[in-house]
Amino acid sequence: MIGFQSGRDSYEETSQGKGVFYMHRFFVSADNITGETAYIDKQEARHIKKVLRLKAGDEVILFDGSGQEYKALLMESEKNNLFARIIEIKMKEDSPEISLCLVQGIAKGDKMDNIIQKATEIGTAVIYPLSSERTIVRLQGDSAVKKVNRWQQIAREACKQCRRNVIPLVKPVMEIDQIFQDIGDFPALMLYENEQDNSLRQVLHSIRETVLTTGKIFLIVGPEGGFSEVEVEKARKQGVQTASLGPRILRTETAGIAASSIIMYEYCSLV
Ligand code: SAM
Repeated sequence: MIGFQSGRDSYEETSQGKGVFYMHRFFVSADNITGETAYIDKQEARHIKKVLRLKAGDEVILFDGSGQEYKALLMESEKNNLFARIIEIKMKEDSPEISLCLVQGIAKGDKMDNIIQKATEIGTAVIYPLSSERTIVRLQGDSAVKKVNRWQQIAREACKQCRRNVIPLVKPVMEIDQIFQDIGDFPALMLYENEQDNSLRQVLHSIRETVLTTGKIFLIVGPEGGFSEVEVEKARKQGVQTASLGPRILRTETAGIAASSIIMYEYCSLV
């Protein structure tokens, strides 16, 4: 696939050699759209002007994260404020048929950044950063809020790149008991490396009807240190199914993404 990112558009050649132009995409909060005019925030404006060197009159795609997509023409910037005039509005709700809610044991360093980026690309609907017995990173108060805001920005950026219009929601840092309340009667599975009886395949087949009826599934993944026996038993008591991904121990950042992809393959027609 040949491609290039010009000042104006990104261009890709399909395997049949056809040229396909993709216009640059930028996130604009719905609050910043009044009538036909969209205000582009400073961070995006800087990228547009300084990095991509786009000019007044250039066409761009704006998305507000709800599924709305706007074709717009950049306008002359007033001082540091950049606006665009909307010329076409489309509702492109591109979410998978089921809502995959990833409950991810908070991983160390920038692993969470990567997990959130890949989960967004795969089509995950909601990401719960889980603080569990063995999470090494302890986030509370302002540090937790700052981290969640950063992770939400990463999800937004990933949507720009993968041309996704609905931005996944990154929830506040929670403990498992709080998440059980959100799970309620929805189907949920916990990846557990010591599970001897149920493979992921078997569990996905056994809950298929419920997932397709409710349209939602929770996937619970442990942090680097895994789950304690107490946490596993508590989950089972809540009706969560434990599932094995086989004999190898996957890193936390591998396990959630691998299982998410398998879930998408199992339940969604476009995969
Ligand atoms: N306790 C593990 C060990 O013995 O090294 C470490 C946990 S693993 C690095 C992190 C998480 O990935 C686990 O909590 C589990 O959710 C998931 N995981 C990794 N390998 C798995 C497997 N083979 N089957 C099911 N889940 C797995």
